[in-house]
Amino acid sequence: AEPITIKSLSSATGIKTADIIKYLFKQGVMATINSAIDTEAAMEVALEYDIELEVREQQTAIDKLKEAFDKRERIDVRPRPPVATVLGHVDHGKTSLLDRIRKEDVAAHEAGGITQHIGAYRVTIEGSEGAEKTVVFLDTPGHEAFTSMRARGANMTDLVVLVVAADDGVMPQTIESINHAKAAGVPIIVALNKIDVPQATSDNIQKIYGQLAEHGLNPVEWGGETEVIKTSAEKGTGVTDLLEVLDYQAELLELTADFGGPAAGRVIEAEMQPGRGSVARVLVQSGQIKVGDFIVIGRAYGRVRDMTDDHGRQVLEAGPATPLEISGIDDLPDAGDGFYITTTLQAAEQAASQFREVERHQQLASKTKVTLDNFADQL
Ligand code: GDP
Ligand code: MG
Repeated sequence: AEPITIKSLSSATGIKTADIIKYLFKQGVMATINSAIDTEAAMEVALEYDIELEVREQQTAIDKLKEAFDKRERIDVRPRPPVATVLGHVDHGKTSLLDRIRKEDVAAHEAGGITQHIGAYRVTIEGSEGAEKTVVFLDTPGHEAFTSMRARGANMTDLVVLVVAADDGVMPQTIESINHAKAAGVPIIVALNKIDVPQATSDNIQKIYGQLAEHGLNPVEWGGETEVIKTSAEKGTGVTDLLEVLDYQAELLELTADFGGPAAGRVIEAEMQPGRGSVARVLVQSGQIKVGDFIVIGRAYGRVRDMTDDHGRQVLEAGPATPLEISGIDDLPDAGDGFYITTTLQAAEQAASQFREVERHQQLASKTKVTLDNFADQL
């Protein structure tokens, strides 16, 4: 919603801008006529003049799209593949494990083994009972991306794969990862990696189980709830087991998505590409997206010109749990921004421009909010 400025507060209440600025100054806040203040401060100023302020949140077009989307009639709700993020201490084998998992992907073989870096991978394996299992992996560089996405309310992951090296055990970043996953309320599956190394003795494994249990991850082998899968990214051991456990855990979570209707989803990352302009890597979370659709993605909007999947193949239409690269938008959105399909280009443009407007106000607000302390430093 649009922030309240000194100017707008003055015109709403009749209090002189100079008086508002003076009042805020006494509170230790330096403000100018265009400064934004929060709702509480505005109400406080008004109360000084015996005015009770009623603040109505002004909905932006993107808020309305979200609301309409949330209220929509579900058309085709079905189970969907889980989205997993790999976390863990540095050098415990996160990248190696993801690489190994991608080698097991049957779709990768169909596509000639080429995997594009698009920030997420959809991996389908032949399960032990012959049934295909699909998991989407978010290829985040680690906790930082995970935390910043979460801080923005963009919790895209259903499960965390915690990689713990059998020769190193639980380390500081392992504990951080556990805490992040717990804070996000996301189940943790442990990949006890490097099981091929000589140090991976049963004594050491029991010791690591103890460390895990200490941090609330009591292994199934010990009668607890936490699945610990012994893996070797080097040799390929346990990778199929890991994917099957992920699939099974996803079943317990009863993850579903509406495969019908217009799509919505989130940005994983975005970049400029020569000849393609702004390109957004997104994860479709609901509905169908088609080439030619009108789309708003955070501050960006446009008409989907082309879409490629995680194997670099052109696709014309895609549904939930599909990572895609999309071109045809006018600007770069941020990781975690939502996207919506609109019925007209104007609606997408309006939503994007209101997004930019809110952003501009926020920047303005953070630029002009000078406290007395740092004001004194400038003198
Ligand atoms: P990350 O920092 O967690 O992404 O770790 P990497 O995937 O980069 O792996 C760190 C090092 O451990 C590399 O030298 C890998 O070759 C090695 N490594 C990873 N997984 C295994 C494994 O299962 N067994 C063995 N022996 N080495 C591994
Ligand atoms: Mg790595």
